[in-house]
Amino acid sequence: MDFSFVSGDPALDLAGTVGSRRSTPVDLLNTPSDLERWVASCEGLPDAVVTDPEGLASALSLREAIYRLALDRIAERPFTPDDLAVLNTTAAGPPPTVELGDEGVHVSGTLAQALAQVARGAIALLADPEAALKECGRPDCTRLYLDRSRGARRTWCGMDECGNRMKAAAYRARRRARAHPDSDAGQV
Ligand SMILES: [Zn+2]
Repeated sequence: MDFSFVSGDPALDLAGTVGSRRSTPVDLLNTPSDLERWVASCEGLPDAVVTDPEGLASALSLREAIYRLALDRIAERPFTPDDLAVLNTTAAGPPPTVELGDEGVHVSGTLAQALAQVARGAIALLADPEAALKECGRPDCTRLYLDRSRGARRTWCGMDECGNRMKAAAYRARRRARAHPDSDAGQV
């Protein structure tokens, strides 16, 4: 399965590598090579990292901490101390190296450096009172995203992933309602 980068921030995209969190969770990071592919696909992170099961475990621990801290932020409750410790410790490591060339920016570094970068981004995001963090409006999605739209009126994590699916479902429901006006569906 392909990774999506629709959340507006690498930290939220990392958290989004588990979908359907409240029903049947689908985890896209099952092996170190899944993680290597994710890091390489994510803009702003090193294009080639090599990792092992220990590296995967550290990424998953950061991922779950970010997810829970973002939920804390959305619910406007205090952050969970254990999750803060994971995030802050990861962020304390050195970030990747960036070099400017004619082709643009080249980012290189280790997995630990990549995770430090993700954690630093998460800190900036979670500390920003203006950041509109939301959970996708499609109930089974559970993806968190940063709404940068004017007036923060976005409802879905992404149109392809969820918005179009929800619109199609609403259209089918309306058609059913018209076809069977006496049914319950007609009274919505
Ligand atoms: Zn969604």
